Amino acid sequence: MTRIERLAALLEEPLLVAGPPYVLGGQANVRYLTGLQSSNAAVLVEPDATATLFADFRYAARGREVPGVTFVETARNLVPEIGELLAGKRVGFEEAHLPYAGYRALADAGAEPVPTSGLVESLRAVKDEPEIEIMRRASALSDEVFGVLAAERFSGRTEQELVWWIERSFREAGAEGVSFPAIVAAGETATSPHAVPGDQPIEEGVLVVVDAGCVLDGYCSDCTRTFAVGEISERLSEIYALCLEAQLAGLEAVQPGVHGKDADAAARTLIDHAGLGEAFGHGLGHGVGIQIHEAPSLRIESTDVLESGNVVSVEPGIYLPGEGGVRIEDLVLVSEGGCERLTKFSKELITVS
Ligand code: ZN
Ligand code: ZN
Repeated sequence: MTRIERLAALLEEPLLVAGPPYVLGGQANVRYLTGLQSSNAAVLVEPDATATLFADFRYAARGREVPGVTFVETARNLVPEIGELLAGKRVGFEEAHLPYAGYRALADAGAEPVPTSGLVESLRAVKDEPEIEIMRRASALSDEVFGVLAAERFSGRTEQELVWWIERSFREAGAEGVSFPAIVAAGETATSPHAVPGDQPIEEGVLVVVDAGCVLDGYCSDCTRTFAVGEISERLSEIYALCLEAQLAGLEAVQPGVHGKDADAAARTLIDHAGLGEAFGHGLGHGVGIQIHEAPSLRIESTDVLESGNVVSVEPGIYLPGEGGVRIEDLVLVSEGGCERLTKFSKELITVS
């Protein structure tokens, strides 16, 4: 079955798939269904699996080449035109993606918009073979960059300098871009999970959290390693060992049929038992694909159940203000009886100069 056919099987009425123009990731569902990379396109999928792709002049040539859909060129503001075709009909829209102005345009044209949630996302969560193959390559490229990074000097250079080194290395290794701005967080900076890299030289004796990923053929990779700069205290080594133990427990727990919240708990329990539960304030992981954060999620509030074909991160962290921070993250493919690591770079604590 094609992706459009799989979506159609979930529908009772036509669904308009339309992300907001120019918003990062807003067009991910359109790209998933049609392969068209655009900042302004929409797909109308009918329950009988016929589909119409709408885009303005800038994307018309590529839009006409998309197999299995009827292409319609529209004005720049595409939703009002689509609304006119739907006058008097019920039409599903994606409540997380269609802006209020788009909703109004459908209603003003006489259509009856009905909210839907997470339909395309639920398909995207289960990767097919071609997607898995791309994500293997994106992760291998990430391993390569971490490998070269481990031989770089950290002390005396700034976090921002190393961010640029990483981002440039990804591009030079063949990536089409980075999946998010790389994080290099040393010492105190690393005590915040989404740290902002600074311009102070990195000192010896600290841990440095490096979280980075690339985009290859439209798919993201995501990997975190924590490095020691020169000699570190025994306490920091212990925190690293605890985080690694939790990460391995998380990997062990990730398999088809397991609830996202239970996978989270498998790692969290170890950190809790060491009395550092408060220092692990985020979830264990998230789905990754066309977007860096997508379904399913592995955290306390998650209602998701893992299935074969999910690609998720497993990334416990321990953040101790005044001491330092550790996070270790792998990207894994959920598969029969367990999971397969896509990021394979070493998780031994590596000392850099
Ligand atoms: Zn990450
Ligand atoms: Zn992540």
